[in-house]
Amino acid sequence: MKVTVFGIGYVGLVQAAVLAEVGHEVVCIDVDQNKVDNLKNGVIPIYEPGLTPLVTSNYEGGRLSFTTDAQKGVEHGELIFIAVGTPPDEDGSADLKYVLAVAKTIAEHMTSHKIIINKSTVPVGTADKVKAKVNETLTALDKNVSFDVVSNPEFLKEGAAVSDCMRPDRIVLGTDSEKAKDKLRELYAPFNRNHDKVIIMDIRSAELTKYAANCMLATKISFMNEIANLAELFGADIENVRRGIGSDRRIGYQFIYPGCGYGGSCFPKDVQALVRSANGVGYKARILESVEAVNYEQKEKLFSYIQRHFKGDIKGKTVALWGLSFKPNTDDMREASSRVLMEALWEAGACVQAYDPEAMEETQRIYGSRSDLKLMGTKESALDGADFLVIVTEWQAFRAPDFALMKEKLSEPLVFDGRNLFEPERMAEYGLKYYAIGRGLSV
Ligand code: NAD
Repeated sequence: MKVTVFGIGYVGLVQAAVLAEVGHEVVCIDVDQNKVDNLKNGVIPIYEPGLTPLVTSNYEGGRLSFTTDAQKGVEHGELIFIAVGTPPDEDGSADLKYVLAVAKTIAEHMTSHKIIINKSTVPVGTADKVKAKVNETLTALDKNVSFDVVSNPEFLKEGAAVSDCMRPDRIVLGTDSEKAKDKLRELYAPFNRNHDKVIIMDIRSAELTKYAANCMLATKISFMNEIANLAELFGADIENVRRGIGSDRRIGYQFIYPGCGYGGSCFPKDVQALVRSANGVGYKARILESVEAVNYEQKEKLFSYIQRHFKGDIKGKTVALWGLSFKPNTDDMREASSRVLMEALWEAGACVQAYDPEAMEETQRIYGSRSDLKLMGTKESALDGADFLVIVTEWQAFRAPDFALMKEKLSEPLVFDGRNLFEPERMAEYGLKYYAIGRGLSV
């Protein structure tokens, strides 16, 4: 099938590559000329496991192409995906300017029936706005062309985006058009072989499903962080509590890891956006407001441990930092807990020596060169001359370090762990003082 994807970001690029891999002909459009040029030269703008070979082979095979030429893209696709960003507006609500700009562009260039599929995460009612924008543009241009708008939210996880798109848990389609339903079933048939994963519903329910999913996951994290904070105050160990509740199948083990807060481009913005949408219909979303507030404080947790340990004086300290990306297996640093920590450390007069397996370039891009940030080539070299270590992201490579070397290199044998990677008793055996989240032992 002929497919066009607007927006070559985490969602658009991965979805486009996966659709091309099963044989569809996919044209990707972006306004970022640099990104398009890079992709044509085999430079993939993001790190996602398995993405580079997928993009390269499909580009070379002629099933996947990149351009800034919107007219060419609109002419090509009978199915047109909108996968552009929906960043938070000043008040936290989702900013639809990119989505509506694409809707306008599609209308300007379309000369035959198009199925416009919204993959961006958008507030309930956005499909109606897209329809209105397309109709308004067609009317202004005196064109009479039919179209459908479908909501098809994306549930991929960064760090596992390729496998999530290849083997989705579910394919949610919000549509009131039989034609669109059939075409999308055909498009996704290669990913829907094991059992029927397609869930068809009305458009508004599909739009809300995406927010409900992300808000539920964020709620699990903030709930667990709240219990971790209580565990700390009660002298309990949250890791025991986690195992104790996870064994209940109604609760389960997934997404109940305590830590130094969630980040990324989705949970913070989507929780905020649903809170604002709820306000818009006169409803106060108390649970979601608390989820956001707990997370905000949790991101300051490691810094507060550090401040408490050093009695507020860390001026001139050198801090080894392991993990910059908001979670493992990605280079994405949007809303990352590491940023909150680094900025607080700098403000207090400390220097940071950081290492991350993938996010070093992104860190450099965000913070540029500054004298109080050194990006180190390995996790071991980040310890050189450092006063203590802080772990912010749970990369696999950090799970079994050389503790003896760690102790030898740090001027004070001290580790702050925002992801609870180690056992406090073992750390004590290695002679390392250890602060973790909600474990109560060193705090
Ligand atoms: P991104 O910022 O990585 O990419 C968006 C791309 O859209 C950019 O390359 C930008 O240049 C391009 N763009 C902007 N305006 C354009 C226009 N008019 N025409 C063509 N291209 C344009 O964003 P992302 O992380 O891929 O997210 C896209 C959407 O998907 C968001 O709504 C997000 O909430 C949602 N989503 C993201 C994830 C995720 O894990 N990143 C998962 C599910 C859903």
